[in-house]
Amino acid sequence: MGTIGNKPKKYRSTDTFDEPEILADLDCVRRKAKDGGYINNYRLDIERLISENYKDIKIEHLSLDSDVSGKLEYKNGFWIMTVNSQHPTVRQRYTLGHELGHYLNHRDTLKSFEDTVFFRNKQKSSMEYMADQFAAQLLMPENDIVSLVKEGVKTVKEMASKFDVSLEAMKYRLEQLGYSIKKTE
Ligand SMILES: [Zn+2]
Repeated sequence: MGTIGNKPKKYRSTDTFDEPEILADLDCVRRKAKDGGYINNYRLDIERLISENYKDIKIEHLSLDSDVSGKLEYKNGFWIMTVNSQHPTVRQRYTLGHELGHYLNHRDTLKSFEDTVFFRNKQKSSMEYMADQFAAQLLMPENDIVSLVKEGVKTVKEMASKFDVSLEAMKYRLEQLGYSIKKTE
């Protein structure tokens, strides 16, 4: 999907939502991920991280409508995290990150979330924006991206495979951090 351009001159934020709120939880989860050995060469085993650390979450992989990525619902004392098993694994991993973002940040606000396909919906609520930010920052930490660029990773595809995320998610994250993506076919 293209090559990664030069390092950003400065962090470029195009959105008006505030981020600090999500960072406390994010740091905590990243620490769990590192200390618990859930990261293998940049790839976070997010499913194992969730199932072993959040005892009130149950993950289910089910066939859902194609435009539904996942759900999070509170039932009988458990948070049921449902992921669309029809979607590619990289998408399912991102969905888990997104739903974990809802669980950590919004479970006192809402008891049921249903998520449609990400990235295409321009008019996101701040809760959806936060959940996406959470997933993106959890699965593709900025420090790791900087390290990979230093190591010589030059294409979006190569970097996406390191994190085990979709090209779409990787591109979104890189652009958000201010990297330019050169199109190469
Ligand atoms: Zn959502």
